[in-house]
Amino acid sequence: MPKSLPNRPLRPATLLARGGTMRSNHDETAEALFLTSGFVYDSAEQAEATFAGTATHYQYSRFGNPTVAMLEQRLALLEGAEACRMTATGMAAVHAAMLSHLKAGDRVVASRALFGSCHWIVSTLLPRYGIESVFVDGGDLAQWERALAAPTAMVLLETPSNPMLDLVDLPAVAALAHKAGAVVVVDNVFATPLLQKPLTLGADVVVYSCTKHMDGQGRVLGGAVLGSKTWVDEVLQPFIRNTGPSLSPFNAWVILKGLETLALRVNAMCASAAAIADFLAGRPEVARALYPFRADHPQQALARAQMTGGGTVVTFELAGGKDAAFRFCNALRLVDVSNNLGDSKSLVTHPATTTHMRIGAEERARLGITDGTIRLSVGLEDVADLIEDLTEALEAAGGAVARAAE
Ligand SMILES: *Cc1c(COP(=O)(O)O)cnc(C)c1O
Repeated sequence: MPKSLPNRPLRPATLLARGGTMRSNHDETAEALFLTSGFVYDSAEQAEATFAGTATHYQYSRFGNPTVAMLEQRLALLEGAEACRMTATGMAAVHAAMLSHLKAGDRVVASRALFGSCHWIVSTLLPRYGIESVFVDGGDLAQWERALAAPTAMVLLETPSNPMLDLVDLPAVAALAHKAGAVVVVDNVFATPLLQKPLTLGADVVVYSCTKHMDGQGRVLGGAVLGSKTWVDEVLQPFIRNTGPSLSPFNAWVILKGLETLALRVNAMCASAAAIADFLAGRPEVARALYPFRADHPQQALARAQMTGGGTVVTFELAGGKDAAFRFCNALRLVDVSNNLGDSKSLVTHPATTTHMRIGAEERARLGITDGTIRLSVGLEDVADLIEDLTEALEAAGGAVARAAE
């Protein structure tokens, strides 16, 4: 019998390197990649018993796969969740978490500041199926209270949000949601499982895009849904089994290896992001720099109460508007222009013309996204090199600021 983990609580870095590992009879060191679509049975009787549920045996990788199961177990241990199911992308995780639970006639309340595709599911897809959707400003408890005065099936929120890093008070909203009968789903991508534990703050279900920090090296897409064993087994698993948003074992294996260094990477990226936020806040070209742990963040106290780090993303506004923002992006020599985040390479996005272009000017204004807003995902490069690159790009943007001001 392969040995199992010690029967005492283990810390996150240990779980990230060891959690969920299941050795095969070959006693390999690294997690094995079971790149197989199906599985064979010893006999027709074993196949019959497996389908009847009286024997445990892998059947088909759409329902379950050993490499994927190792990743599910590792993430469940890290999150402190009873169960986890992987999906092919983060959006498949959000979609499966919502559609497995909801039915016509239900009502969903969501924070307005959602990842673009999550916003589309709530605003456009759900109403097509007779599900009412209501948006609130996530930071305004009075709006949550009003919206949750009526019976509600589900609450979906993101904290900190993309790209403005707005926070939602998780314990307060969870209490209101539970009174309304709702299941609380938290998209925890920006915080990562290391900096915020939504299940301990009142959430029922946590979803991730593993494409971001978990792979963290720009290679594969993946998603995860975590919750209670009952909900995962009875609500989520039948949906995933029969609709097929399953994660490839190969991508699961890449994400397993990515997780081994998640704590090292996220800690280093947070330290650099905090230093860069302070640097940006002192620059004349920058109208404001947003970072949840900075003293001037409007929700700093809440951030410090529910997170253990400020995150790996800094958002800032260039005084010179779109002109300055484009000059800034184009002048960067190290940092790439890309709409991904959580990568070991630092990436910069202009939300108004890319990720948040489709929501329209009015909704952008409501979220505080201006034409000068830049989202910077801080990577693993030396922070001094990053600050030199940002300095040169700000100087390039500065020309536009001066002209715009004249
Ligand atoms: C990227 C992202 C998603 C979607 O994940 P994919 O893996 O791209 O499908 C959902 N929510 C947030 C907050 C994200 O950053």
